[in-house]
Amino acid sequence: MRGFLIDLDGTLYTDRGAVPGAVETIAELRRRGIPFLFVTNTTRRSRRRLVERLLGYGFEVSAEEIVTAVVAGARFLKEKGYRKIAPFVSPDTLEDLSQFELVGPLAGSDGAGDGAPDAVVMGDLGGGWTPGLLNQAFRYVLDGAALVALQKDRYWLGPSGLELDAGPYVAAIEYATNKRAAVCGKPEAEFYRAALGLLGVRGRDVAMVGDDLWGDVQGAQRAGLAGWLVRTGKFREDVLRESGVVPDRILDSVADLLEETG
Ligand SMILES: [Mg+2]
Repeated sequence: MRGFLIDLDGTLYTDRGAVPGAVETIAELRRRGIPFLFVTNTTRRSRRRLVERLLGYGFEVSAEEIVTAVVAGARFLKEKGYRKIAPFVSPDTLEDLSQFELVGPLAGSDGAGDGAPDAVVMGDLGGGWTPGLLNQAFRYVLDGAALVALQKDRYWLGPSGLELDAGPYVAAIEYATNKRAAVCGKPEAEFYRAALGLLGVRGRDVAMVGDDLWGDVQGAQRAGLAGWLVRTGKFREDVLRESGVVPDRILDSVADLLEETG
């Protein structure tokens, strides 16, 4: 492998802190001059906050090295010409969408006089979701707004165990409106193409390393990269067995990356 795309949550760190050996592994990749980028579907934090968190764990990182689903989403919205956006993302993420006119319940407006949004943008709100918020997203889409999912992951490893990610909530709106969401982050091939473009290495020479079977492993494989699974974060042996997904490699953790590169 001549380059790596590396997932953040569940791969480099969990809510308990950095994965043992991860800081040293990233430092060693840098020392050896092996190209890599961090790619994340996390939508709870802005890119700026992600950098702060990584620095706090001892990782050396700059914002340009992190490709996020939110930044990919902003690019998608701009390409589509959507200007008025109803965001359903955590307040911390709004700064990465500040180039748009933000309307709706999470944009701090009361909705009166906002007019119809061009698009509903859904991310992971976790415990912030309420029936009222989901209903508002549903109504916007039914009234003609495009449905845009920053990501559609099934679950992630939270502080007290596995937690629903954005995917199940996006699926609820899709079901109610009978419309399909446009997805911006992993596992979309477009997301991987953009990341490879930034990395500057051909897909077949690059491994995506992460803890999500579908977003990280299967998505990467479909985009022509190798998909390497780590046994950290949300990893479960039974889910792997029943998924039908066959990772190109399975590492106990990202700390084993160096053994694999020799
Ligand atoms: Mg992950």
